[in-house]
Amino acid sequence: MAGVLLIISGPSGVGKSTICRKLAERPDAFLSVSATTRKRRENEVDGRDYYFVTTEAFERSIAEGRCLEYAKVYGGQYYGTPIEPVLNNLEAGKIVILEIEIEGTLQVKKRFPQAVAIYILAPTAADQQRRLVGRRSEDPEALAERLSKADGEIRYAQESGAYDYFLVNHDVDETVEAIIRIVKEKQKA
Ligand code: 5GP
Repeated sequence: MAGVLLIISGPSGVGKSTICRKLAERPDAFLSVSATTRKRRENEVDGRDYYFVTTEAFERSIAEGRCLEYAKVYGGQYYGTPIEPVLNNLEAGKIVILEIEIEGTLQVKKRFPQAVAIYILAPTAADQQRRLVGRRSEDPEALAERLSKADGEIRYAQESGAYDYFLVNHDVDETVEAIIRIVKEKQKA
């Protein structure tokens, strides 16, 4: 594999899409367009934001092995990564960016252990965790419960072992730079 497979995940509203769009402006990067069965939002363009497909078509692409990974996300809708553009762009030496959730990340890591997976955190959630941990007023169990309730998804991401890095998105440009540094290290390795 000549290129670098880069997975970006994070809770909604954390700025993932903006980060991915900025990364994709690089000539050496390719942003994967996922397929989904969910309804297209008004501001979305088919083929740019997603390939909006029927459940039948999606299930056919699973059966034919055309998905690198897929998951049922919100409301039981399918989301998945078409495999062909990913492989072609990796062969061309590109940084191939996948903006996908945790289940999909686990599948990709199984298939491509050398993929780099980054979980983006919002400063507010991080602040909240830091505050809770720093307060030292809770016993470990109560603290764990608070953290899990406050941010179950983040805990799951941490416990899944799928992610190589957790980055707090204080500033989009800084986060993008940090990601590029991580990718460059990977390319050197
Ligand atoms: P939204 O419906 O808001 O566009 O996306 C919902 C969630 O689906 C996000 O967490 C996003 O990361 C995830 N997602 C988007 N595309 C894919 C995909 O191809 N595979 C997987 N596993 N998750 C995806």
